[in-house]
Amino acid sequence: MSQQGYVATPPYSQSQPGMGLSPPHYGHYGDPSHAPSPPGMVKPAGPLGATNPGAVLPPGAPPPGPHQFGQNGAHASGQPPQRFPGPPPVNNVAPSYAPYQPSTQPSYLPSEATSSVTHLGTQLSAMQINNYGSGMTPPSQGSPGPLSATSFQGPPRPPQPSILQPGSQVLPPPPTVLNGPGAPPLPPTAHRQEGLPGPVPLSAQYQPPPPPGQALGAGYPPQQAANYGPQMAGAQLSYLGGFPTGPSQMAGPPQPQKKLDPDSIPSPIQVIEDDRATRGGQVYTTNIRGQVPPIVTTDCVIQDQGNASPRYIRCTTYCFPCTSDMAKQAQIPLAAVIKPFATIPSNETPLYLVNHGENGPVRCNRCKAYMCPFMQFIEGGRKYQCGFCNCINDVPPFYFQHLDHIGRRLDHYEKPELSLGSYEYVATLDYCRKNKPPNPPAFIFMIDVSYSNIKNGLVKLICEELKTVLEKLPKEEQEETSAIRVGFITYNKVLHFFNVKSNLAQPQMMVVTDVGEVFVPLLDGFLVNYQESQSVIHNLLDQIPEMFADSNENETVFAPVIQAGMEALKAAECPGKLFIFHSSLPTADAPGKLKNRDDKKLVNTDKEKLLFQPQTNVYESLAKDCVSHGCSVALFLFPSQYVDVASLGVVPQLTGGTIYKYNHFQMHLDSQQFLKDLRNDIEKKIGFDAIMRVRTSTGFRATDFFGAIFMNNTTDVEMAAMDCDKAVTVEFKHDDKLSEDTGALIQCAVLYTTIGGQRRLRIHNLGLKCSSQLAELYKSCETDALINFFAKSAFKAVLHQPLKVIREILVNQTAHILACYRKNCAGPSAVSQLILPESMKVFPLYMNCLLKNCVLLSRPEISTDERAYQRQLVMAMGVADSQLFFYPQLLPIHTLDVKNTELPAAVRCSESRLSEEGIFLLANGLNMFLWLGVSSPPELIQAIFNVPSFAHVNTDMTLLPEVGSPHSQQLRMTMNLLQQKRPYSMKLTIVKQREQSEMVFRQFLVEDKGLYGGSSYMDFLCCVHKEICQLLN
Ligand SMILES: [Zn+2]
Repeated sequence: MSQQGYVATPPYSQSQPGMGLSPPHYGHYGDPSHAPSPPGMVKPAGPLGATNPGAVLPPGAPPPGPHQFGQNGAHASGQPPQRFPGPPPVNNVAPSYAPYQPSTQPSYLPSEATSSVTHLGTQLSAMQINNYGSGMTPPSQGSPGPLSATSFQGPPRPPQPSILQPGSQVLPPPPTVLNGPGAPPLPPTAHRQEGLPGPVPLSAQYQPPPPPGQALGAGYPPQQAANYGPQMAGAQLSYLGGFPTGPSQMAGPPQPQKKLDPDSIPSPIQVIEDDRATRGGQVYTTNIRGQVPPIVTTDCVIQDQGNASPRYIRCTTYCFPCTSDMAKQAQIPLAAVIKPFATIPSNETPLYLVNHGENGPVRCNRCKAYMCPFMQFIEGGRKYQCGFCNCINDVPPFYFQHLDHIGRRLDHYEKPELSLGSYEYVATLDYCRKNKPPNPPAFIFMIDVSYSNIKNGLVKLICEELKTVLEKLPKEEQEETSAIRVGFITYNKVLHFFNVKSNLAQPQMMVVTDVGEVFVPLLDGFLVNYQESQSVIHNLLDQIPEMFADSNENETVFAPVIQAGMEALKAAECPGKLFIFHSSLPTADAPGKLKNRDDKKLVNTDKEKLLFQPQTNVYESLAKDCVSHGCSVALFLFPSQYVDVASLGVVPQLTGGTIYKYNHFQMHLDSQQFLKDLRNDIEKKIGFDAIMRVRTSTGFRATDFFGAIFMNNTTDVEMAAMDCDKAVTVEFKHDDKLSEDTGALIQCAVLYTTIGGQRRLRIHNLGLKCSSQLAELYKSCETDALINFFAKSAFKAVLHQPLKVIREILVNQTAHILACYRKNCAGPSAVSQLILPESMKVFPLYMNCLLKNCVLLSRPEISTDERAYQRQLVMAMGVADSQLFFYPQLLPIHTLDVKNTELPAAVRCSESRLSEEGIFLLANGLNMFLWLGVSSPPELIQAIFNVPSFAHVNTDMTLLPEVGSPHSQQLRMTMNLLQQKRPYSMKLTIVKQREQSEMVFRQFLVEDKGLYGGSSYMDFLCCVHKEICQLLN
């Protein structure tokens, strides 16, 4: 991988607008030269200072709207910010902007030992101090073990003030000297300990617990108050004062009645439900440029009227700023998440296929953009002006058509490429390799037959299943049988090729022992038509498990396996896909041999990135070869220990393939999940040998690409294959001004080979608005797409940057985006108010969920392979999948209405939403949990599990029994609904409240403080608020 491929995405290391000595510029994550200037240099008149007269105000400062938070009035009046002479001390003394400073200290780290008491509002009585995750003793850092013992003792309690009472208080009382309102001014942390409401009142709670023996107070380096990270003495104590609750609270026992209602902070459930209520079930037409579509969780019918459906393209904002200065000021990434082969529901129109015969598609002579609704016909229809580069082109004679009185071609509505956002072209031979029509693709099944796979029955399971799934190979709609050919290889230390030619009585095996330089021992009879060779293939699949039954071979190769598959496709001159079923670290002597290099000591150091990088470059160059021959790799992993996913996953990741991972695979528990994945992967819609090009109108261009892709140059996205679930996230940058009149136009063209062997072009067009008003930009944002972008850019950066730096940048950019809004678009209000744009109400929450993902959390408890795996998954996700992945769906099953087929309304992912009388289903796209409260109604337990009580429920199951009761049917139907349209089969885990397995489940309650670290939503909001206040100062 060239370093260039991982250049950090611009917004991350931009200078801080408003801090402005050095011009804002883009650069690498963590590049110190790009670090922003110290906050002490903040100039209010900087870029942030430009007020925006046309700004659309959020629904007013006054009433406690769901998007507005301010400091408590009592507090604010008692401790007005003006009491601080000038800027807060933190700014004065801080030599630099701490979060950006390279440092080995833990950064934005879980506020492990701090409680989550927060207070945000100016809304006086409406706002009370709340404690999040009450009843839960925060773990001490590094020892999450005991946590399970202590934190699960009680049933979940609703947020109660009681945690603040002596006794239940998890924190030691603050030292007296810091308590009184009359305490002398101290460095920032001390201020917060006093409960003084400085503009940065909340930082302390983000600091991990102090190391034992560290002294409190005086030694606290002031600039660290601006940092999230350094473990400082007093961190634990300061949290109390960290909340603007007024000094009185600090002096005595906490006042339980003051509580910030968790319902008053923006709820993703509310956002989802509101969008559903206003736009669900309706027809959404794409005729308006820059129109923000319904969010991904809303079901509606999409009608293409000139712009690509949001199923194909979603943008972080549907209104681009006119100038790059504006873009840098707001720091909102300008990006599109493109899913070119997205599945379209049956009630929407499939793509039209345009065939111009030998003429091929009509394209602009200069920029090569394809004919589309953005081309303007002139001169009576003899010429057209390209909407992308403005070049005036002649209309080819075969394509001429007269114009009507408004200058539109008479055949406007007859030609998909003139009136629709998305359509396909039949490609001519010019678009084919060697100017020859492509051969239909082939699937090669490659089974690891080493000892353990034979022993545990996996090989037999795979062979049995293949007999069924091969009947369902994908085919063109009009065809009767699939054109896809199939081939079979088994391997351990050596490779076995099989001849399954239809005229053979028995399959023949050829062994290749020279794994150093793999060759394909047979061409004729290796790749065959399944229907023709069915009996030989079945014969082979029956024999394979027996064939290796006596093998004691434990060692495997891996790179030679991919090499062999790729060479076979190359020899057959066809694109294709390898299905590899693999279990172990490939330690046999061969190219791509790996050693166990899992080193937990690297976690939370600058070398942590090594864990995500492949340990050899063999796989990268292999991936490159695969892409150039249209060979995609789907990898099914069955690891019982470390297998180095970071290395093994490189080829699937770069070839548009997918990795599936089944830890400690157990036949009776996991086979259903695996088989569903296998069927789905074989049957899903897919294009092969694909090249994607994103063109834009003048003034901006695509600069960075994220996905399961490979790039040989800076513009062409190459994919050995691309399926219906894969999305490429594309970032755009200005290179000139954009015009409000013409907007910003995007055309994504994917050249590919269909499963039937046709070469086609799939075109998606999207027009966005442009504005010189920042408020318009914020109004048109889509949070789910933003999170997709941030996740992918951060996960890409993980390979090259310390995680600490990445986390800090994420937090900082969150604050920056919101601060810019606050400064330029929100109405006049107290500085202490947190004001969020309507379109980004849950942006901080989702960013916190991203920060808490195991990839970005530097915790040794989490398996290295799991982190590498999730990193690779997210890189290819579309917006709907990343939304669910970062914010799981939590459904109260006990409220299921058996007469109503609709899903129950989801609840927020927090322990406080659970009840011990309840049963809840949680899904995130990879996992599904059924959580049973200790007092679950026995009749419900009976209806679902067919056992008399909670105690009788056997949690060792991954499939629910078919009890036949309405509840059982309804629940299983609900689970199927959640599973639909998801690329991965979710494994079901039954979790009983207060049992050990609840630990795993709780990691998905993403609004709470994480078990392995990561702030609660409330804490994070306070943290961001504090950052914003600093920026505004
Ligand atoms: Zn052009």
